[in-house]
Amino acid sequence: MLDSTTNNQNITTNTEKESEGVIVHAIRITTKLGIALALFFTNNPNALPLALYLGISEILDQISLDLTRTNLNLKKYVGLFYACNSVAAISVITYFANWSLTDFYLIYLVHISSSTLAYGFQNGLLSFILSIFSYSFLLFINQAPLLMYLRFPIMAILVLRLLVSQKNYEKTNRTLNAVLGIEKSKKDFIALASHNLRTPVAAIYGYIDFLLRGDAGSLNEAQADFIRKIRTNNKELEKLTEQLLEISILEVNKEVDLIRQQSQIEVLIEDVVKEHEIMAREKGLILTFQRQDGLLPLVNIDVEKIKSVLSNIIDNAVKYTEKGSVTINAFQKGDYIVISVKDTGIGIAKEELPKIFTKFYRSGNVLIYNKTGVGLGLYLGKQIVELHGGKLTVESVLSEGSSFSLMLPIIKEEMLQ
Ligand code: ADP
Repeated sequence: MLDSTTNNQNITTNTEKESEGVIVHAIRITTKLGIALALFFTNNPNALPLALYLGISEILDQISLDLTRTNLNLKKYVGLFYACNSVAAISVITYFANWSLTDFYLIYLVHISSSTLAYGFQNGLLSFILSIFSYSFLLFINQAPLLMYLRFPIMAILVLRLLVSQKNYEKTNRTLNAVLGIEKSKKDFIALASHNLRTPVAAIYGYIDFLLRGDAGSLNEAQADFIRKIRTNNKELEKLTEQLLEISILEVNKEVDLIRQQSQIEVLIEDVVKEHEIMAREKGLILTFQRQDGLLPLVNIDVEKIKSVLSNIIDNAVKYTEKGSVTINAFQKGDYIVISVKDTGIGIAKEELPKIFTKFYRSGNVLIYNKTGVGLGLYLGKQIVELHGGKLTVESVLSEGSSFSLMLPIIKEEMLQ
C-alpha cells in the first residue's frame, strides 16, 4: 500500500511525471519481491503469505492510481483509497494465513520500506525511522496479551497517519495548483509584455526619426542633441525589454524555439556593425569588421537570436571602451566559425572572468565607471549560443581590453546536399 510518501504520484500532471510514476512502481515491486524472495530462500514461513500480500496490495494500488489519476473528483480521496487498500489486504492475509499481529507489523514494515525507497529519501525518511522504531519496539515486547491491548491504539495511529497523509496530499495539491496558476500568469505576462512593451518603444523610435528628419520643422543643435539622447535611452530601454522577455521565455517555457536558417555570417556581422557605427563614432572609437577574402562556410542559425547576442557583445565593447578601437573578425577554426570582438577598453579582472556569464553579474570596474546595464546580456547570450551547439568565451586583461569569441558550428557538407 502507499503511505504518506506516495502523494507525489497522485498529482501527476504530465507524461514526464507519469513515466516517473512507472519507474517508482517498478522500484516498489522489485523491492517488495526482493524481500519476499529473500525470506523464501531463507526458508522463512512468512515468505508465501508475504508474496500474496504484495500481489494483492500492488493490484489494489494500481486500481486506485488509475482511478484517481483519471477522475479529478476521486483524486481528493486518494489517501482514503490507500487506507482501505492497506486495511483490506492486511486483514485478508492475516486472516487466511492465520498470522499473528507480529507478522502484521512485519509486512507493514516491508511496505513502508519499499515506499520509502521508491518515493525518495527525503519524503520517506521520517516515516521510515518512526516505523522502524515503533515496530521494533512492538516486536521487542512481543507478548500476546499486550499486543491485543495495543491493537486499538495502533490502529488509531495508523488511521491518524493515513489522515495526515491525506492532508499532505491536499496541501501538495493546493500548492501545485497555486504553482500552476503562477506559471499561467507568467505565460500571460510574457504574451502581454511582448506586445505592450515593444509597441511603445518602437513608436518612440518612429517619432524620434520624424523629428530628426525635420518632419515637424527644423531643429536647432541643442534640440537635436536632446533628441539623440532620447534615442540612446530608448535603445537601452529596448535592450532591457528584449532581455527580460527573452529570459522569461527561457525560464518559463524552459526552452526556446530556434527558427534556424542557413546563413552567411558575414552579412549578419555587417548589419550589426552598421547599427553600432554612430555610437562608436560619437565616442571617438574606431569600429571595424576585418572581413576576409572569400566567403566563410554557412552556419545554421536563428538569425535574429544570434544578431541579438552579437549586438550585445559589440554594444558592450563600445560601452566599456573609452578610447581606442573595437575590432571584429570572423574566421574558420575546425568545425566552427569564430566571431571575435576585441576591444581596448576597461577589461575585466581575472578573478571576475568566470562570473560574467552569470545572471545579473556586473564587474566591479563598470560600477566605478558608472555604466548603465543590468548584467543579463552575456548570461542570455551564452544560453542562446549553447542552444545552437556553439560556445561563448572571453579573454581579458584589466585596463587593457577584452576579447569575446562567439563560436558557431559549421553546416557539414553532407547536410548541404
Ligand atoms: P551589462 O552590460 O548590461 O551589465 P552583460 O551581461 O552584457 O550586462 O555584461 C555583464 C558584465 O560583463 C558587464 O557588466 C561588465 O562588467 C562585463 N563586460 C561585458 N563586456 C565587457 C567588455 N567588453 N569590457 C569590459 N567588461 C565587460
